[in-house]
Amino acid sequence: MAQRRKATPRDAATCQHCGAPGVDVHHIVPFRLFDDYVTANDLGNLVTLCKPCHRRADAEVQRAA
Ligand SMILES: [Zn+2]
Repeated sequence: MAQRRKATPRDAATCQHCGAPGVDVHHIVPFRLFDDYVTANDLGNLVTLCKPCHRRADAEVQRAA
């Protein structure tokens, strides 16, 4: 998961939603919608979030599905 390790420093280990310290890496487009993990883990599809924002983002994905 090298790409995940790149996303966190790119975002300064800061939640990109609320600005809190965060180290969770969220897939903007859900992982399961991709045919291959390489594309799913492209840096452009990864965003650093704190845990509460990550839970909320995943819940929104569930509702949209
Ligand atoms: Zn947050």
